[in-house]
Amino acid sequence: MTHPFRFADPRRARDLVDAIRLLAPREPVKLVHVCGTHEIAIARHGLRRLLPDTVRVLEGPGCPVCVTPAREIETAIRIAETGATVCSFGDMLRVPGYGRSLESAGASGADIRTVLSIDEAVRIAGDSAHEVVFFAVGFETTAPMTAAVALEHPPSNFSILASHKLIPPAMAALLSLPATGISGFLAPGHVSTIIGTGGYGPRLADCGVPVVVSGFEPLDILYAIALLLRQIRDGRAAIENAYPRAVNPDGNLTAQRLLANVFEPAAAEWRGIGILPESGYRFRPAFARLDARARFDVGVIPEHEEDRACRCPDVLTARAVPADCPLFGRRCTPLSPVGPCMVGAEGACAIWFRYDGERPL
Ligand code: SF4
Repeated sequence: MTHPFRFADPRRARDLVDAIRLLAPREPVKLVHVCGTHEIAIARHGLRRLLPDTVRVLEGPGCPVCVTPAREIETAIRIAETGATVCSFGDMLRVPGYGRSLESAGASGADIRTVLSIDEAVRIAGDSAHEVVFFAVGFETTAPMTAAVALEHPPSNFSILASHKLIPPAMAALLSLPATGISGFLAPGHVSTIIGTGGYGPRLADCGVPVVVSGFEPLDILYAIALLLRQIRDGRAAIENAYPRAVNPDGNLTAQRLLANVFEPAAAEWRGIGILPESGYRFRPAFARLDARARFDVGVIPEHEEDRACRCPDVLTARAVPADCPLFGRRCTPLSPVGPCMVGAEGACAIWFRYDGERPL
């Protein structure tokens, strides 16, 4: 009998696990995904327990809140301290920056608001006589919404602190960092719906490491892992699509046009990684009036030193799993996070805390 939900069919899962066991090499391989939603599915469904010992799957820089640098959090706080209202998503408010978060700045009197979308921030601006700033974080999936609002002539007291990040440059950067040892990438399905499989080509086509676009159901992920292992076995390194029901080669051209109209690629700072060329966006000159960085003078913000015991930089670059951190579940918990990876709903540490990411059978 067919399982009522075909993407969670245990019989198909067993077949895929059998295929993975046949394809798994004797030498250890490290597969990396860059997506909090993938990590949630892997941890929640216990997929790591189904994999052979030689196959490890780690999360890289897949949590948008976690990769937002402390310097930009401090920028948002300093903007709020000028008397502006700063709006962002709930997770972003709790991420520690320079010894303080947006949430703690709000407790100290700054006007910090949690919103569910950029549209909500625009409505707040429409009802306010004060400056209202939306702190925009997220990858290629959320950036088009920011671009759409920019094109809709928001109120003159509205501006955007744009901190969007682009996934393919970060994937390519991981390969050039020491000791990452990546054998293959699971590429995020939702980002891929926007950029298409073609969006990985410029950075990753000749990198020598296979890339497989994956959906988010357990069977999607197992299937993508099997395709990665098949490429590794065959000595190939192609960009393959295991999520054709949502992703095509060209991506969403409407969203791409929105982005190209409003933004141009620019260097961006990633928490745990550093500054990567063309891995973020800046406003095109025609939209400079919306740029909160230009509208507010927040002074020079110095380099930030992370808590040395926090291993977020290693977790975000797939060089460690949360359980490798001595603070995990002790000094660092979701109620008392030390690093960003314990805050964001898509942060590896928060997910492992919730689902016990690599629990043995
Ligand atoms: S457990 Fe906490 S301190 Fe350790 S890496 Fe994760 S966020 Fe950082």
